[in-house]
Amino acid sequence: VSAVEVAQAHLDRISAVDEKVNAFLHVDTEGALAAARSVDDRRARGEELGPLAGVPLALKDVFTTKGVPTTCGSKILEGWVPPYDATVTRRLKDAGVVILGKTNMDEFAMGSSTENSAYGTTGNPWDLSRIPGGSGGGSAAALAAFEAPLAIGTDTGGSIRQPGAVTGTVGVKPTYGSVSRFGLVAFSSSLDQGGPCARTVLDAALLHEAIAGHDPLDSTSIDAPVPPVVEAARMRDVRGMRIGVVKEFGGEGYQDGVVQRFQEAVEVLRELGAEVVEVSCPSFTLALPAYYLIAPSEASSNLARFDAMRYGLRVGDDGGRSAEEVTALTREAGFGPEVKRRIMLGTYALSSGYYDAYYGSAQKVRTLISRDFDAAFADVDVLVSPTTPTTAFPIGERADDPMAMYLADLCTIPSNLAGNAAMSVPCGLAPEDNLPVGLQIIAPAMADDRLYRVGGAVE
Ligand code: GLN
Repeated sequence: VSAVEVAQAHLDRISAVDEKVNAFLHVDTEGALAAARSVDDRRARGEELGPLAGVPLALKDVFTTKGVPTTCGSKILEGWVPPYDATVTRRLKDAGVVILGKTNMDEFAMGSSTENSAYGTTGNPWDLSRIPGGSGGGSAAALAAFEAPLAIGTDTGGSIRQPGAVTGTVGVKPTYGSVSRFGLVAFSSSLDQGGPCARTVLDAALLHEAIAGHDPLDSTSIDAPVPPVVEAARMRDVRGMRIGVVKEFGGEGYQDGVVQRFQEAVEVLRELGAEVVEVSCPSFTLALPAYYLIAPSEASSNLARFDAMRYGLRVGDDGGRSAEEVTALTREAGFGPEVKRRIMLGTYALSSGYYDAYYGSAQKVRTLISRDFDAAFADVDVLVSPTTPTTAFPIGERADDPMAMYLADLCTIPSNLAGNAAMSVPCGLAPEDNLPVGLQIIAPAMADDRLYRVGGAVE
């Protein structure tokens, strides 16, 4: 089968179902077919191509794509067409991956349900009245609805893993600094990390290998070889590994069926020959409040670039107003409520007089969390927990309750604060609602291969 046929089949699938799913904000039919044709031509010339050449992919709309609109799910970037490719976009193209289009997301990646998108919410293909997770709900839904076999997400507090968990797909947050952030529109720069989404662990590993690696254009990019993730995904053997169950992630607030499927997955790991122990990480209970100070603080600074002069939307520029007034009117009209909430929170936390009490304390908690991880990884190879406390909740249920929404990332946030690697892999359906449950696996920084070894064995 040719790359063009594969691309066309997926474009047809998108035409058939995406009106209902709304996973895509933009479908690049011409670009996709041109990329596929080029793969077919190169193959016909006898060129040796990589394993992902001709494979279609759905790209989260937070990565810049030269000549293709990039909105970050925001009205403020409506109509903006980037003049350059993100490094991730570039590497995908170099690998011959066929980018089908850009996927829906919570505005500037702030959310856990994709309901904060300015372009309508995405449905969870398992039950369209439920959320597909967020912020990368479009990427996860595209996989679960068979609109694309591969996708890219970004994970600042859980936005790859939580959508993966609630859609029954695989999502990986690689070690911070291992996938370039160049051309990834910044939300919280010290936490943001792009990563692979797929339906199988091996597919995720192949994609991981294609996008990871040093990039001189990103000052926080790690200059070290990419861990052997593909080899690890193929091992399917956990004998001799020590696996720690995080004691703090369970109990009140966790859905029964989620806990049940998680415990069964742990039992499977034990049967496969891993040694399972309980591990305590006491400061993880402080991760959520620390994250909701650090992430908004960085966001308030990063989003200052949307000043109505540089990109997209401009409101009130009719000659009679000052630049400041135009900026204020544009930001008022262009940002949604969650983005405004975060900018206000972050600006407050960073202001003089409050800085030490809020931002400073949050940074101290961040250090404590890293120390808990260090202590745990001195004893075990990986940690495991449920990815998220509940299965996909109904659209609208938490939309007006930011605190309830924030709880979706309770188990995923510590890894962002510490910068290590984590994966969500499906571990069955919760018996009470028949919806997917995710097993989270966490590995030390630059030991991403361990995620694939464990994930590959249990999937
Ligand atoms: N849900 C979290 C938030 O709203 C995480 C978002 C993300 O990982 N991009 O900030």
